Amino acid sequence: MSTQTLRRILTRLDDLTYADLKKLKHEVDDLISQNQVGEVIAEREDSLTECPHCCSNDFTRWGFTKQGIQRFKCKACLQTFNALKGTPLYRMRMSQKWLRYNELMWHGATLRKCALELGINLRTSFRWRHAFLKAPSNIEVQPLSGVIEADETFINESFKGRRILHRDARKRGGRKAPKTPILIALNREGSVIHEVVDRNTKENICQFLQPRIADGSVLCTDGNKSYIEVANTRKVDHKRIVGLDNIRVVEDIYHIQTLNNYMMHWKEWMTRFRGVGREYLPHYLSWFRYMKQHEQSDQGLLFAAMTNT
Ligand SMILES: [Zn+2]
Repeated sequence: MSTQTLRRILTRLDDLTYADLKKLKHEVDDLISQNQVGEVIAEREDSLTECPHCCSNDFTRWGFTKQGIQRFKCKACLQTFNALKGTPLYRMRMSQKWLRYNELMWHGATLRKCALELGINLRTSFRWRHAFLKAPSNIEVQPLSGVIEADETFINESFKGRRILHRDARKRGGRKAPKTPILIALNREGSVIHEVVDRNTKENICQFLQPRIADGSVLCTDGNKSYIEVANTRKVDHKRIVGLDNIRVVEDIYHIQTLNNYMMHWKEWMTRFRGVGREYLPHYLSWFRYMKQHEQSDQGLLFAAMTNT
C-alpha cells in the first residue's frame, strides 16, 4: 500500500464513532494476531522434514486447511497434516484470535471474560485454555541444586466440573470441604517443582523430592520429619527451620520464605478463578510458574504451545 493511501485512511479515522473505532480495533487486532501466528507456522513449515504419521520424508504441499494453513500430503502413507500436527493447537480453529486469547490469559482473565471479549463460546474458551496450558505443564525441570526450599501447602478443593458434585456435597453434609495438598520445592535460581498429591504423607514427599534434588544441595524445610528421610537418602545438607523462639532464618541464608511468598502469590492469583477442579490444579501451578519465569512476554504461552510436541 502506498503511504498516500495509508495517510488517507488515517485521516478518515477522525470521522469514526466510538463504536466504529472499537469494531475497527478488533479487526486490526485479529489481523496482527493472524500475521504473527502465521509467521510462527511458516517457520515450522520450513523445518518440517518428515511425515508425522509414518516418518517418511516424501511429502508434498496439498492445498490449505479451512484456517488457511498450508496442508501437506505424505506420498508414503497418503495421510495429510499441517505444521501444527503434534502441538496442542492442531485442529484448533480461529487462529486469528489465539494471540489475543493469550494476552487475556496472561492478564488472568477468567474463561467467561475471554469468551465475551473474543466472541467465542465458553466451551471453546475452556478448550483453548487447556491447550495453551499443556506446554508449560510439559516443561521438564532439571533436578534442583543449590539452596532448596521445600514445603507443603493446602488449597480448598473445588468440585467444579465434576459430575458427581451433588451427591458428594450432600454426603459430606456440614463438614468442611477437604483440602488438597500440594508439595512444592524451589531453589534460589528460580527453578520450581510441584505436585498435587492425594495425601500429605512421608511416602509422597519422598517420592516427589528424592529424585529431583541434586547431590551437594542444601535442603531447607520446616520441622516436618518426613524431610529428614529425604535428606538422609540423598547427599544433601538439611537445615530444619523449627519454629523455636520464632527463628525463621538459620545462619543468615537458610529459610523457606521464598517458597512461602511464592505460594502466597499463587494463591492470591488463583482467587480470580473462583475454584479450580483438582485435576486442573497442576495446569494452574505450571502456568503461574511459566509467567514468573517469562515476565517479559505476554505472548509466551502461545509460542510455547506452537513449538510444543
Ligand atoms: Zn506418512
